[in-house]
Amino acid sequence: MAKCKNCRRKGFMIETDVNGLCSDCAPYYYLTMPDDLKALDQSLQALKRINNAAAAFGRLEIAHECLGRLRSYAEAGLVRLPAGLPELDNLLQQLDLHWQDS
Ligand SMILES: [Zn+2]
Repeated sequence: MAKCKNCRRKGFMIETDVNGLCSDCAPYYYLTMPDDLKALDQSLQALKRINNAAAAFGRLEIAHECLGRLRSYAEAGLVRLPAGLPELDNLLQQLDLHWQDS
């Protein structure tokens, strides 16, 4: 009986590929994840030097969206993020607060 490493669905109807991903989780992993990783990394780099709130909120939104999609894969050990999940959550939370106050 197969079990998907990402969504953890299992059963006789579930087929997993060489990376242990089911047909729901595999497409993102192969097709979209590289773009999300790149977008997340670029947003984090940009946030280090951004000095206006509108630009910061735009980058933060992208970073949150990408991280949201990457999260389960990172938790399953299927992807290496620019930093650990707790660090990234912490960093984004601090940036959210920083720019909300400005
Ligand atoms: Zn799955």
